[in-house]
Amino acid sequence: MHSLPRLALIATTLAALAPAVSGSVVPVVAAEFARCVAADAKVEKLAGDFQFVEGPVWLPRDSALIFSDIPKDELKRWTRAGGVTAFRAPSRNANGNSLDAVGRLLTCEHSGRRVVRLEADGSLATLADSFDGKRLNSPNDIVERRDGTLWFTDPDYGLKTDPATKAKVGKEQAGNFVYRLDPKSGRLTAVVRDFSHPNGLAFSPDESKLYIADSGTPRHIRVFTVAPDGTLRDGRVFCTIDKGGPDGIRVDRDGRVWSSTGDGVQVFSPAGELIGRILTPESAANLCFGGEDGRTLFITARKSLYAIRVLVTGAAR
Ligand code: MG
Repeated sequence: MHSLPRLALIATTLAALAPAVSGSVVPVVAAEFARCVAADAKVEKLAGDFQFVEGPVWLPRDSALIFSDIPKDELKRWTRAGGVTAFRAPSRNANGNSLDAVGRLLTCEHSGRRVVRLEADGSLATLADSFDGKRLNSPNDIVERRDGTLWFTDPDYGLKTDPATKAKVGKEQAGNFVYRLDPKSGRLTAVVRDFSHPNGLAFSPDESKLYIADSGTPRHIRVFTVAPDGTLRDGRVFCTIDKGGPDGIRVDRDGRVWSSTGDGVQVFSPAGELIGRILTPESAANLCFGGEDGRTLFITARKSLYAIRVLVTGAAR
């Protein structure tokens, strides 16, 4: 006859050996991950039949989510009551979206090769479209700092590849850089130049650190210290993604880093330790915190939009 502790041990062992189920959560450091998401939380599909979705951002004022269907050339809007509607089309193949301090929508345009801001009168203001006299590649993701500066990545994913030479057609920049824009002066500065394909980016809660995903050959996230003069220092690899690569990333209020990956979302402690996974039915490209209480994680994944209830809110940006 088995004793109760032994049965409990067998049950725990079987649970650990069970195959990871799409739509579920998989703790790696259980005690820490339990602070992020409930063990029985499930990924919910909110909408599908898109071409390729990216760039989710929650609009608290409207209780709505804005996101991009890049190939369809449309920005979409989702609400719990109304489902999905068109928000802006054409979008110039918009990709990453975020909000500035007063709630204006910031958007990276692939084919527009620029960063734009939606003004109160409905017009689009071009914030940046060139650096050093040459056109940007295809801005990918953007975040504002509390000091009003805008930080964005500019990989060349949005440029067509010449099948013969494999070169990017129309590429004018010498590389794929990360930029800081000072909207007051209009000055654009390349703050990092040595990434393969810089992609998602997010600040730590106190904005002393900047995390930047590289979805090119390294498939890792680097972290930098933001110096008072706006330069980046002490860059180092923060974590490496073991399933696919990192695209969009977000930081929660406690400083954990949530990254999209080939099989969903991976969550890392502020020290860079993998603490758990959220598995999605399709490869995730981007994510954001939102919902009425800020505790829903929205995930754009290939042709569908997903969400899962979580236990933490996002950092301010
Ligand atoms: Mg991206």
